[in-house]
This record gives sequence, C-alpha cells and structure tokens, in this order.
Amino acid sequence: MDILGVPRPTWMTEDLILLEEQSRRFIATEFAPHVEHWNEEGVYDREVWKKSGEAGLLCASMPEDYGGAGGSFAHEAVINRELSLAGFDSFGAPLHSGIVAPYILHYGTEDQKRRWLPKLATGELIGAIAMTEPGTGSDLQGVRTTAVKTGNRYTLNGSKTFITNGQHANLIIVVAKTDPKAGAKGTSLMVVETDDAAGFRRGRKLKKLGLDAADTSELFFDNVSLPAESLLGTEEGQGFIQLMTELPQERLIVAVHAMAMMERALALTIDYVKQRKAFGKAIIEFQNTQFVLAECKTEATVAKVFLDHCIGRHVTGELDTATASMAKYWMTDLQGKIIDRCLQLFGGYGYMEEYPISRMYRDARVLRIYAGTNEIMKLLIARGL
Ligand SMILES: Cc1cc2nc3c(=O)[nH]c(=O)nc-3n(C[C@H](O)[C@H](O)[C@H](O)COP(=O)(O)OP(=O)(O)OC[C@H]3O[C@@H](n4cnc5c(N)ncnc54)[C@H](O)[C@@H]3O)c2cc1C
Repeated sequence: MDILGVPRPTWMTEDLILLEEQSRRFIATEFAPHVEHWNEEGVYDREVWKKSGEAGLLCASMPEDYGGAGGSFAHEAVINRELSLAGFDSFGAPLHSGIVAPYILHYGTEDQKRRWLPKLATGELIGAIAMTEPGTGSDLQGVRTTAVKTGNRYTLNGSKTFITNGQHANLIIVVAKTDPKAGAKGTSLMVVETDDAAGFRRGRKLKKLGLDAADTSELFFDNVSLPAESLLGTEEGQGFIQLMTELPQERLIVAVHAMAMMERALALTIDYVKQRKAFGKAIIEFQNTQFVLAECKTEATVAKVFLDHCIGRHVTGELDTATASMAKYWMTDLQGKIIDRCLQLFGGYGYMEEYPISRMYRDARVLRIYAGTNEIMKLLIARGL
C-alpha cells in the first residue's frame, strides 16, 4: 500500500525493502485472518507473540549476539508500519521491541542483556514499561512507587496503571524511587521478571475507547522482593536520565504509527468513494470529495517527508528531543484530522463497526495522549525556543 507515492528515503536499503515484503506477506497470511477474532476477544493470543518472534518481527534492531536481527531503528519502523497498515494498531510489539528492549541494550549490564534480550526476541518474554501511576502520568517526577534496598535485595511497592501489554507481560521495567527524597535523581528503573514474583498482581484489563485487543492494565507490586541485579545497570538514580534519553524513540514510534494509519485511511477512503454512488454518480465525482482528499493527501505527504527525515536522523543518532516531539505531536494531531475527514466521506457506513475506518477513528485518539501528551510535546519544543 503506497497511496502517497513519496520516493523511498535513502535509508530504505535493499534489506529493508525485503523486510517490508516479508513482513507484509507474513502478517497477511498468519495474522490478518484472525484480527476480528482478537478484537472481539479483546486480547491477542499468547501464540501471536511466539509467531512474531519466529518470523523476525520482534527485536529486529537488537544485535544478533543478543538474539535480534542486527538492524537499526529503520527495521522497527518498517515492521511497525506493516502491522499498522494491516490494522494491528493494538498490538504491543512496537513497545516491546522499540522501547523495552532498547532500555536493556543501552543500560543493562552484560549479564542482564544476555539474560533478557534473547528471550524478548523469541517472544518467550513479553515486555512492558510501567511509568504511569493512578496519581501521576505527565509528571514523572511524581512517581510514588519505591524500591528500597536492604542488604542484597530490593523491596518494590506501588501501583501502576494504563500499562500496555499488562496482562501478557512477564518482563516489566518499573519506574521507582530508590531514594524518595532525591526527586528525579532518586529515580531508578527496576526490571521485574513476573513469573515467580510473589507480591506481584495484575489488575483489570481496562475497558477503553479503542485499541480493543490491547491488554492495557493496572499492575500492583506489594512487597515484591527483587535481587540486586534487578536494578537496570549498576548505579541507582539513573532512571530519569535513562527515560529522557529513550523517550524520543518512543515518540518516533508513535509518529510512525500515526503515519501508517493516515496512509491506510486514505487508501480505504479513496477506494470507497470510487465505488459508492449518490445522485447518480460516484462520490469521488463531487468536487467536495476531491478537495477533501486532495487536502488530506497533501498534508499526509508533507508528514511522510518529515517522518522519513526524522527516521533518517534517528538512525544516524542525530534526532533531538524537540524534533521527535514535533513529529509526535504534529503527526498525531494530523492523523486525528485526516481520519475524521475520511470517515465523513463514508457517510453512515463510516460509523459502522464492519468498516475499518470506524475502528481507526477510535484507535487513533490515544496517540495524542500516550507516550507523553501532545501538550507535553509542546513544552519540550518550547524549551528550545
Ligand atoms: C491506551 C494507553 C496505553 C498506555 N500505555 C502506557 C504504558 O505502557 N506505560 C506507561 O507508563 N503509561 C502508559 N500510558 C499512560 C500515558 O502515557 C499517560 O496517560 C499520559 O502520559 C498522560 O498522563 P495522565 O493520564 O496522568 O494525564 P495527566 O498528566 O493527568 O494530564 C491531564 C491533562 O493535563 C495536561 N497537562 C499535564 N501537565 C501539563 C503541563 N505541564 N502543561 C500543560 N498541560 C499539562 C495533559 O496534557 C492532559 O491534557 C498509556 C495510556 C493509555 C491511554
């Protein structure tokens, strides 16, 4: 599906084109026939993760030494786009591969990398990152979860909410205060293997406006005893810096998602308006339809060029926080607008569940909220003015 016709960016190498084709084929044959079932069940089967691992859809940017495919962020972007073009907007793999695994790769000790990354790549471990708490989301310094060290062990206490992959995850990076009096400098990332963690409890899979099959959940940690090696890295108090360093990639992942949804919405809509008739002609023959779609295509094209630029800069390590924030805020705002305008062209059918544009309208809304709200993105951009 290439509705925009933007020439391929220079970072899109031969192996990435191959990855695009392979991912598209795999998703179409193995996953697409079941998507309705998963949406109705409200959760992905555990098997989907294992199959994703076998097909190389997980941890593509992790080094081969740690079980990955040895690619770059561009590999993650290609896979994420394919998932989204096929309607897998609620699947938590982009977070697992593009957010959880990089924390371990960039800050973990050699032992931690060897212990966790290969299992994340196969899907044996499913990753989550638990920052948000009932009392704090945007203001990460307000986290109240604590990890107190006594002797050679930490005791973890607190509750988290809105956690993606919350029901399936068995490797959870928890943002906690190891020194509650030290503010941001007292924040650390604790890695919890939940399979045998006494005191760890999953709460509800939360009912949501969209992303029906995503197992977004509450998590509870009541006196969970962790070995000292659960601290990510070797030094306490590094959590805030680690989060600030990694969050631009998280924002770029959301921008990739927004872009793919815009492309899909346009493709579905152009197809529909060519077939649907009113007043004796196809809907596309009305000048209003043409103008709306011309505007949407123009704006989506501008977005795609900007996104390709951001990905290219990120691959070479040059993407700054402000630019990543621009991509996240502007592209998710635009996504909301384009999907809304596309839905209008479907008339009443746009409101019906069997038309994917209806689900996309619901699924899209959260992209302006999570990974840092768009208001927080503007604060980050404004800091550099
Ligand atoms: C489906 C879903 C999945 C999620 N997945 C995860 C996950 O995997 N892990 C995780 O940790 N979290 C996750 N989140 C949480 C998400 O990141 C937070 O909801 C988000 O960061 C906002 O925090 P909040 O909900 O506490 O809103 P609040 O911080 O209470 O914000 C409320 C409003 O105030 C605005 N606001 C706040 N501060 C300022 C300010 N300084 N200036 C201007 N406006 C401001 C916000 O922009 C927002 O409009 C998820 C959320 C959802 C809905």
